[in-house]
Amino acid sequence: MAQFLYRCTTEGAINNNLKPSCDFEMVFDEGSHHCPICGQELLRVSDGLTISEVLRLGQQRADKQKLQDQTKGTTKK
Ligand SMILES: [Zn+2]
Repeated sequence: MAQFLYRCTTEGAINNNLKPSCDFEMVFDEGSHHCPICGQELLRVSDGLTISEVLRLGQQRADKQKLQDQTKGTTKK
């Protein structure tokens, strides 16, 4: 079965504000999955959506530095 990268799209603090954001990412078999940390439905990001699109959808205000880390080496300029 194909596997894809899934990413949590939760915005804002979770876990009674113990974490400022979730940022959970994991590779799963194709299907419907939920975040084990916060319970939010995970968005498949490795096919179709790019990381930057996911960030725009779910985390517009966060993780600019993380995005740079994730796309290191693949940035076109
Ligand atoms: Zn989550």
